[in-house]
Order: sequence, then structure tokens, then C-alpha cells
Amino acid sequence: MFDQIAQVVAYQKLNLDAPVTVTVKRLDQIHPQISGNKFFKLKYNFLQAQKQGLNKVLTFGGAYSNHIAATAYAAHLFGFKSVGIIRGEELVAKPLNSTLATAQQFGMQLQFVSREQYRLRDQSEYLAALNQQFPEHFIIPEGGTNPLAIQGCKEILNTDDLKNYDVICCAVGTGGTISGIIEASSEHQKILGFSALKGDFLQHDVQQWTMKKNWQITDAYCGGGYAKTTPELFHFMQAFEAEHTIPLEQVYTAKMMVGLFDLIEQNYFPKDTRILVIHTGGLQGRHAG
Ligand SMILES: *Cc1c(COP(=O)(O)O)cnc(C)c1O
Repeated sequence: MFDQIAQVVAYQKLNLDAPVTVTVKRLDQIHPQISGNKFFKLKYNFLQAQKQGLNKVLTFGGAYSNHIAATAYAAHLFGFKSVGIIRGEELVAKPLNSTLATAQQFGMQLQFVSREQYRLRDQSEYLAALNQQFPEHFIIPEGGTNPLAIQGCKEILNTDDLKNYDVICCAVGTGGTISGIIEASSEHQKILGFSALKGDFLQHDVQQWTMKKNWQITDAYCGGGYAKTTPELFHFMQAFEAEHTIPLEQVYTAKMMVGLFDLIEQNYFPKDTRILVIHTGGLQGRHAG
């Protein structure tokens, strides 16, 4: 299934005037829709669904969710039906934004629910009710994060990545991606996560998935909270793209890069630290400000 998507991933070393080296692993180039980390998060979920004889998936997300976009496209590509439970019943009355319009175009059935109801998304009673309404659907949690996703995200790093870098950086949403990276990492490496959300709940969430201790997550660069933006952030994105010819988006990767550059400037990393940055994609949701 997922093997039919060519996994050509480029490494791009940034030309920086800094005492450290920064190399970007371009997972964003895997596929325009099943982008970046979502490829790895969905892979074993779809395989498991197939193994159980199910060809329908149901999942959850907000109106701008890269996970919703990726799931809709993967379902379309592999001949699955898909249902997206979308947060915000007020959206029913509005025209679909481009993420949701694309998801629908790829055959995803969208069901808008209130924020209250959406909060029940992990509760077994609600899931049982959904399973009545949508029988024979393989349920993937919000953001796709479950043990199968983490199994997939362990494949983000290859053996060279374990040897050639001291620090690995990635953007963090639900924490599934960084958990897989931590699990795959070598103990000499430090994994540094830049949270797109405010709060330290991710410390606890990630500890559910890994016993390792060679990681740290900061929310210092979330820019006030999830999907919040400023003119400075868009300015950074444009300048970064012009300088390095790597597109970023405003929710995850631009904030991570702002954070990394700030830490480099503060001499947070020892001289000659070899940093690998995972570009987790998400460019379908990118806008210019
Ligand atoms: C979904 C997403 C993330 C967050 O991944 P988690 O596994 O939820 O932490 C990071 N970057 C991009 C671009 C994403 O789309």
C-alpha cells in the first residue's frame, strides 16, 4: 500500500553563519497530501485496518488538520472509505476551507460536531456510539497518534541519521511523531521537540510512549498557542524560504525553526553540534499571512 508512494527524501544542509551545522530532512517531499510525518503515522494504521478486513476508516480533527487531509487522500488512494469527525458544528453553515474541501473531494464524509462532543473523542462510550453509526470502520484517533503511528514514526530515522547527528529537532502536536523518533534514536542523541501548543501536558503524553529520557519539549516558541500567528512569523517564513529554498508552514515547522534559530543564537548548543531537523511537511495548510 504505502510502498507505492516513492519515499525519496532529500537532506539539505543550511548555509548558516553559526558554530553548529543544521541539516533538514525533507519529509515534506514524500507526497503533497500524505505529507511528512503523516505518511509514517498512517502507514501501519491502514495496514492494520486491511488486516482486520476493514476498508473504511474514521478519524478526528480540526478544520485545518493536516491529519484529516492526509487520511482522506490515503483512503482515496488505497480504495478505503473515510469519515472525518470535525470539531466545530458552526462550520456546517460555512463554505468549506481548502483543507476540508480537499478532504471531501477525496471522498471523505465530513461530520461536524460541537466542541463538547469532540472532547469525548477518546471515550469508549462515544466511540461505541460512533461504531454504531459507522459500522466496520477502523478508528484512528485525533492526529493519528496510537501505537501503530509510533511504530511508523520509528522509521523516520535511518541508521545514518543515528550516526551523523547529535541533536534531532521536530515540531510537536500530539507527540506521536517525536515519540517514534525518540524510540528509534541512539542514546547519545538528544531529541528536541518544539510544541505547537501551550502547556506541559506533552511531557506526560510522551512518557506514555517511551521510557527513554534523551528528549525535551519546549512550548516557548508556540507563539501564544496552537495556530496563532503574527506578522513576524510570516516574515520569518518568507525570509527563510527565500534564503534556503525550503517552504515552511505557520502552524508547526515555522515555529520550530524560529525556536531552533533562537537557541542557536543563544549558544544553547555546544560548538560543532550536528543538528538534524525533521521537516514534518504540512504544506497543504500553508498560507502566506
Ligand atoms: C501533524 C503535524 C505535526 C505534529 O505531529 P504529532 O505526531 O501530532 O506530534 C508536526 N508537524 C506537522 C507539519 C504536522 O502536520
